[in-house]
Amino acid sequence: MSEEETCDVIVIGGGSSAFEAAVSARQSGAEKVVMLEKAPEAEYGGNARFSHTGFRFCHSGRDEVREFIPDVEQDVFDAMEINPYTKEEFLGDLNRVTEGLIDEDLADMLAGESNAAAHWALETGIEWVPEKWAEVNGRYHFEPGRNVQTRGGGKGQLEQWREIATKLGIEIRFESRVSAIYGNNRRMEGVRVAAEEGEYDLLSDATIACAGGFQANPEMRARYLGDNADLLKVRGSKHDTGEVLNMILSMGARATGHWQGAHQTPIDAGAPSFETPVLEGGKGNSMNRYDYSHGITVNSLGQRFFDEGESFHSYTYAKTGRAVRGQPGNIAYQIYDQKGLDRFRHGRDQKATHEEADTIEELAKKVGLNPAILGATVKEYNAAVADEIPFDASKLDGKCTRGITPVKSNWAQKIDAPPYRAYPVSGGITFTFGGLAISTDAEVLNTSNQPIRGLYASGDILGLFYHNYPSCTGQTRNLVFSRKAGRNAAAVGN
Ligand SMILES: Cc1cc2nc3c(=O)[nH]c(=O)nc-3n(C[C@H](O)[C@H](O)[C@H](O)COP(=O)(O)OP(=O)(O)OC[C@H]3O[C@@H](n4cnc5c(N)ncnc54)[C@H](O)[C@@H]3O)c2cc1C
Repeated sequence: MSEEETCDVIVIGGGSSAFEAAVSARQSGAEKVVMLEKAPEAEYGGNARFSHTGFRFCHSGRDEVREFIPDVEQDVFDAMEINPYTKEEFLGDLNRVTEGLIDEDLADMLAGESNAAAHWALETGIEWVPEKWAEVNGRYHFEPGRNVQTRGGGKGQLEQWREIATKLGIEIRFESRVSAIYGNNRRMEGVRVAAEEGEYDLLSDATIACAGGFQANPEMRARYLGDNADLLKVRGSKHDTGEVLNMILSMGARATGHWQGAHQTPIDAGAPSFETPVLEGGKGNSMNRYDYSHGITVNSLGQRFFDEGESFHSYTYAKTGRAVRGQPGNIAYQIYDQKGLDRFRHGRDQKATHEEADTIEELAKKVGLNPAILGATVKEYNAAVADEIPFDASKLDGKCTRGITPVKSNWAQKIDAPPYRAYPVSGGITFTFGGLAISTDAEVLNTSNQPIRGLYASGDILGLFYHNYPSCTGQTRNLVFSRKAGRNAAAVGN
């Protein structure tokens, strides 16, 4: 192997943002595009490998969504309630869940270009299927802006991108860890690669950093995210250890986004520390515990601690893991009766750590909670449920509790239909919110807020979100910024 090599565009990473950036650069005229993936071939693909990869994007409604899912049988399609999702709605969601902190220009670009980016993926050959829906009275209801996912979930998406990239002649080098970068706060010159066969330099006028967040690095999690964060269970790739992010920051890039924040979800307390298994057919992660709106959640003291019915799953799940992590021992218990279990997203019989009993007190004993306290919590909650408001899972139904703290704002049904179940959950982490600052041209900015010439970035390595995140925006962000980064890098690197 030569010790020094050149190419038109270097892409660091082997996940979805990397494939999209590489394909965009190649389509824009870059001849030699090289992807450097730290993981071995059997583990390539970063976080998407563990995801079902739903996409949130703006669209005009039924007819446009039909273009993405032409294979769906007409009678199934006819039963789907597909509402338009406007740029204003997407921006409203981004601003509300990030508490107004998301960068105005980047948010505008993300929402504004989401439609064109999704169509670009479709035209490039990516295939889609319908997102999960909630069936109510024979009609299929979607959460706002989330109507499709890629065929085969995250793994299917990666396989499709890999095939497209290979056909375009993009080189994908596995087990090729970027161990150093060359450049300074004004220009990027290339990278050092530690490959199995030895180390070498790869030089280029254009590099796109798509090396993910630092969620798989317990030391960085503890340093930036705080208490118990080193104990979080990593839902995705073990390879996302933040080293490229650190190298680029050391070179003089500006940090932004929420460095104490991350996408954190409730996960089966029995889940492994890394890489939780995926359901067959790309239907999502098997250890997600997202049904909290159909029951109540208590901590190890037997007390509720958040509003389980605040809003749709899309707007709450990415911060609910943080709420669990804040409880003693990073553990909580989701409590359901039969009505709640019947509404489970993946069906009530999905394999999961749980206990079952005919009374709440017996259930408490089985999971090690104080029976008197859990009994009192459930009794108080049941008494507070607004009986006169009808339950309706298809919308924010306003069926709330009254007179207790925390309130449950929607879908509050009494827990009174035995047998009852308790699911122990802990905090899981998906990706970190602190990362690199970029311009609307996807150029990495230095600490003087000037672009670092020849360096672009996309994906979880960006600093973009704060506090929370509207579901299925990660993949959209990847498409929007990778498409832009690839085009601009091709112009520089040729
Ligand atoms: C369980 C789960 C479910 C999810 N569901 C959804 C969803 O439905 N919709 C959605 O929008 N988002 C979802 N996400 C989030 C989304 O998958 C991520 O935001 C997205 O995949 C990040 O893409 P990325 O390319 O930036 O990072 P990654 O896919 O993590 O890729 C980073 C890559 O960089 C490589 N790398 C790291 N260090 C180096 C180095 N030194 N040298 C070379 N390569 C390196 C890694 O090996 C990896 O290939 C989910 C994530 C998980 C884990």
